[in-house]
Amino acid sequence: MSSALKFSNEFVDRLPGDPESRNFVRVVRDSCYSLVEPTTTSKPSLITYSQELAELLGTSPEKIGTETFTEVFAGKRTVPGSTPYAMCYGGHQFGHWAGQLGDGRAITLGEIEGKDGVSYALQLKGSGLTPYSRTADGLAVLRSSLREYVCSEAMHHLGVPTTRALCLIRTGDQVFRDMFYDGNPELETGAIVCRVAPTFLRFGSYEIFAAQRNPEVLKLLADFTIQTQFPNIKADGSPDSYVQWFREVLDRTAFLMAEWWRVGFVHGVMNTDNMSITGLTIDYGPYGWLEDFDLGWTPNTTDAQTKRYTFGKQPQIAKWNLLQLANVLCLLVDEPLPLQEALDEYDGIFEAYYSDVIRRKLGLQELSDDDTNLVQELYSVFDSFEIDMTLFFRLLAKVSIDTSEEQQLVKSLEPALYNPEDISREEQVRLENWLRTYTARVQHQSLSQIARTDLMNNSNPLYVPRNYLAQLAIDDADKGEYSLLRQWTEVLKSPYQEQPRMEKFAAKRPEWARTRAGCSMLSCSS
Ligand code: AMP
Ligand code: MG
Repeated sequence: MSSALKFSNEFVDRLPGDPESRNFVRVVRDSCYSLVEPTTTSKPSLITYSQELAELLGTSPEKIGTETFTEVFAGKRTVPGSTPYAMCYGGHQFGHWAGQLGDGRAITLGEIEGKDGVSYALQLKGSGLTPYSRTADGLAVLRSSLREYVCSEAMHHLGVPTTRALCLIRTGDQVFRDMFYDGNPELETGAIVCRVAPTFLRFGSYEIFAAQRNPEVLKLLADFTIQTQFPNIKADGSPDSYVQWFREVLDRTAFLMAEWWRVGFVHGVMNTDNMSITGLTIDYGPYGWLEDFDLGWTPNTTDAQTKRYTFGKQPQIAKWNLLQLANVLCLLVDEPLPLQEALDEYDGIFEAYYSDVIRRKLGLQELSDDDTNLVQELYSVFDSFEIDMTLFFRLLAKVSIDTSEEQQLVKSLEPALYNPEDISREEQVRLENWLRTYTARVQHQSLSQIARTDLMNNSNPLYVPRNYLAQLAIDDADKGEYSLLRQWTEVLKSPYQEQPRMEKFAAKRPEWARTRAGCSMLSCSS
């Protein structure tokens, strides 16, 4: 193993680190990271891994999935050349500055150059205390680790920018968790995910140095980020380079928000410490996938009252987070106006990405101004019905352009409805009217039925990691049974492709899952 994995440590070598080498919880100043060793686990066992990612990282084929592999990614065996560290960052949580946060339960082993020429950081999540663990234990439980493993790989295969996951390991140790925050903690199965990304830097990584009034380290980190992650920008330390960089971060973030919209993903905790500087989906916690299309839905119980991070608000929250980043970058430019101007363009940039997403979801060649009504009316249809977003768009792709029988059209969408028996005649007419307008609209474009279906099916996934399926996989995994998890992750590798005998992974949420914890609402208790 060690001979195949070639670690480098650019982050540690080039950026200022914490001089304190002992591992205890503390305030760390003027440092991008603290060196820290993962805590040894008692008896790690491998639950599942990504063969493709292991190969990309140059793991020798005969080592993938072996005991050595498991021990390396459980943090039990040190790989020569790796210099494990935890990153220092701060963040705005739920709209308020929260001070120093940092990698409280994540330790980066170092970077590896992938076969694609990209440098990847490998990070163990759940591998023990770090200087940033604050009052928590630095550990992770199986349920949240499994959810991160499955969802980040699913995102990758959906084509949405994301951190990835190399493997999921059971530590052999137990972790105390108060899952419902009701004063009844229980012992749960401990686990570690090895996450992989070109960088795990977040907006909060820069905010911390503004809070510490340390523009020197901020500048070092900004220049390092531009050099290593934004090769198209000249990292010459000029104010213009930081403005260009901000524009690029803003563009990638707007793109990501449109992509989340496309697939129906709700992050759940869009705090600035969970916003990737390279526009990746990062930190999978109490996230959820839209079942019933509801702009006001948040999967996070902590956000149930405030509803700050609902599906429909994500694009605007991203802009608010970008504003926090712009405030930080003011320290690096002489004149804040260009940053403000960039921010002012956010709405237009998001709108352009979003319109293209909607166009493809509806199978339209182009989206004209007249289509605004079609889209608005669709949202109000979604509003009055309980409709499964994922199934709706897949079924809509099948609707024949030539059918003039609206009632037949409604019938063909019925499998996407949660309570078809409760629909009033009035509501039915509403859906019929929308479908009539829609079919008339697609008849007026030159795209063939096949071309339209292809366009839609390549933009609207059939298989997404539905919350209740994750819960079923978790229930099994807790008992040491991993076949459902493995089969599901295989299916999620081709999310746009209908797969024979895999209907159960596309099925809409069953009634029992409507109110069960983990299926509709989740807490942050990781
Ligand atoms: P998150 O909600 O995952 O974005 O985490 C917010 C902050 O809390 C980050 O600094 C995490 O590292 C930290 N944190 C979350 N869970 C734990 C844990 N079990 N042990 C230590 N730190 C944690
Ligand atoms: Mg986080």
